[in-house]
Amino acid sequence: MIHNFNPGPAALPPEVIARVQAELPDYRGTGMSILEMSHRSKEYEAINAAAEAQLKALLGLGDEYRVLFMQGGASMQFALIPLNFLPAGGVAEYIVTGSWGEKAYEEAQRVGSVHLRASTAADGYRGLPNVEDCTPDANAAYLHITTNETIQGVQWPAELPLFGDVPLIADMSSDFLSRPFPATRFALMYAGAQKNLGPAGVTVVVIRQDLIERSRKDLPVIMRYATFAKNNSLYNTPPVFAVYMVHLVLEWIKDQGGLAAMAERNARKAALVYAAIDASEGFYSGHAVPSARSLMNVTFRLLSPDLEKQFLAEAKEAGMVGLAGHRSVGGIRASLYNAVSPESAAALAHFMQDFAKRYG
Ligand code: PMP
Repeated sequence: MIHNFNPGPAALPPEVIARVQAELPDYRGTGMSILEMSHRSKEYEAINAAAEAQLKALLGLGDEYRVLFMQGGASMQFALIPLNFLPAGGVAEYIVTGSWGEKAYEEAQRVGSVHLRASTAADGYRGLPNVEDCTPDANAAYLHITTNETIQGVQWPAELPLFGDVPLIADMSSDFLSRPFPATRFALMYAGAQKNLGPAGVTVVVIRQDLIERSRKDLPVIMRYATFAKNNSLYNTPPVFAVYMVHLVLEWIKDQGGLAAMAERNARKAALVYAAIDASEGFYSGHAVPSARSLMNVTFRLLSPDLEKQFLAEAKEAGMVGLAGHRSVGGIRASLYNAVSPESAAALAHFMQDFAKRYG
């Protein structure tokens, strides 16, 4: 058995993989695969509508929000957000707590005026900024945050500080649907599907209607959120298979007990791995300060790069894959997204204890 700790694309629920496999040759009696079907078919339109409804139900959102299925990954959102919501003469604000927020901030600078409201770069992205430093200017076009920094393993708490009254936009790529959170505080939230939601190829955007109405109208149509909203994400050919799989993963989350059940499961898994770090008397050192520790990406180092290589090699032999830290920072990273089982987290914690005993 393989324990999959990949950072994304990442583990998917085995029940979903089995369902996809069973339905692949003949999608619900149509005589063809979902891969061969028109995106204008009633079958696909039903999937598209169901996925939007399921997502809104999980988040407790009503008609004031739309769910859009887009392409280009979260990286495309880094550009589309300032293009749509940063008017000439306006200023957008960014809080940067890791590498992905940094990328979003840099991309926005290519579009218009951007202000760095707060950053934890000086401490190596280990923690969160002081809340007092996070209030945006009241005239800001929007405030952008990253709820979970996948590379550093730093996460905002689900109950975020109240940042102020400007539209709040969040990159939730690596912790979306991992826990309940006050979704109505956000004007726009987005996530590439390939961590908690499904396969790569679709980006889920949840956007408040008033933001759509306020967006710039002088952009190419394909770059406007309004186009996707008006056409129910069917302006052009959507990534049909990816949306279908998101639909199945959303059903799986609901069947497990929704976001509260995900939060309980994820907290339990992360606690096992962090406990192995904390009990190791410095053999393992966590990157994030304890108050900012991510429940999705547990990042830590060993005493030397050679020992980290040994750790990764032995982990692989024991069936644990995907544990190398991001190439920009090295070290070890265990990604514990929704579909990673508690058994996998327990196996990793056990392996860490054993490895520390042998090499410590
Ligand atoms: N934001 C975050 C928080 C991420 O983790 C990632 C991908 N690892 C991205 C953005 C970039 O996503 P994509 O590759 O889908 O463009």
